[in-house]
Amino acid sequence: MTRKKSDRAGWGINTRLTHSGNDPHDYYGFVNPPVVRASTVLFPDAETIENNNQKYRYGTHGTPTTDALADAVDELEGSAGTIIVPSGLMAVTVPLLAFLEAGDHILVVDSVYFPTRRFCDGMLRKLGVEVTYYDPLIGAGIDALMKPNTKVVFTESPGSNTMEIQDIPAIAEVAHRHGAVVMMDNTWATPLYFKPLDFGVDISIHAATKYPAGHADVLLGLVSANDKHWKKLEDAKTNLGVCAGPDDTYLVLRGLRSMGVRLAHHEKSALEIARQLEGSEGVSQVLHPALPSSPGHAIWKRDFKGSSGLFSIVLDGGPSGEVQRKKAHAFLDALQIFGLGYSWGGYESLAVQVRLEDRTIAKGPTAGPLIRLQIGLEDTRDLLADIERGLEAAKRVAG
Ligand SMILES: *Cc1c(COP(=O)(O)O)cnc(C)c1O
Repeated sequence: MTRKKSDRAGWGINTRLTHSGNDPHDYYGFVNPPVVRASTVLFPDAETIENNNQKYRYGTHGTPTTDALADAVDELEGSAGTIIVPSGLMAVTVPLLAFLEAGDHILVVDSVYFPTRRFCDGMLRKLGVEVTYYDPLIGAGIDALMKPNTKVVFTESPGSNTMEIQDIPAIAEVAHRHGAVVMMDNTWATPLYFKPLDFGVDISIHAATKYPAGHADVLLGLVSANDKHWKKLEDAKTNLGVCAGPDDTYLVLRGLRSMGVRLAHHEKSALEIARQLEGSEGVSQVLHPALPSSPGHAIWKRDFKGSSGLFSIVLDGGPSGEVQRKKAHAFLDALQIFGLGYSWGGYESLAVQVRLEDRTIAKGPTAGPLIRLQIGLEDTRDLLADIERGLEAAKRVAG
């Protein structure tokens, strides 16, 4: 990097997103870094290979392409190092494997992304790790759940689908007092709207599949660690042999360049739609952290710089689960612009019914079916008309 850190310190976020990572002058001035495909890297002579004395040694350990993305992410996160893994779920599982062993105990937020729970209940328990779920609104009260063998506190804020905001600084303070590592799945906010390491988190996790990639065409995960925990994280990545493909890595760096402007648009549109839906006929509740009615809103206001494009609504219910199911299906099937499908963070709007049967503590709203909306980059007027079509169809389902 030829530019000095001091030059960059005062830059705004979009300036940094535009210029972080690679230095064009490392490659003849081409604006973007090369997509380096590599297993073997050649050494100039026997002595260099014996001493392992060059920057790149083998494809799995990193290339100029992976370094460009990892450096850009370190600048956004304020982290000591970042590993790039093939999916967002792997960005969760690799640090858990790195910091836990048989006989340890982990505390996991009950509103966690469902595949994270599946990994904890399956693989982690199989490896002899004890798992306890806690209330997303527990805050400093997590002290009562800490055990002598609690090694990791896993957080995700807002919670998946039910959007509860956690008091991360309070939880981190308690966890550190007991010697536990604090991990956070920060996919919703991205480091633009919440910087976990500034709030006491040790390991920040992102499904780069979502906003960093931004176009529903890439799967990738990012894990960033503070100085104290970087070595152990990097060692786990090396031991497991995890590495991401060069094209996907390149596409995520490409996505970062426009992430600031995309997020600003997602934020504005999602807020407009959420506000419009709150109190609307056919909607019993809107779960969006920037609305005062959403659980943990005061903490969102205190800690977050913005909100992204994903939130949930509860439709007016019916007397039975079956009526609720029919209403949800009528709503979804009437949509013409929103696609029905998983994942989010791309340019297009999506809707899906979510179920909370896995929850043990944060059971969420039961008044009606829960629908998760990802607000894309379309015009809000068209999206609101589409939602209106869905609400009309749900209303016609007899209770
Ligand atoms: C999507 C998602 C993941 C997993 O990302 P994939 O790339 O789909 O594996 C992890 N955490 C959260 C919060 C997510 O939304």
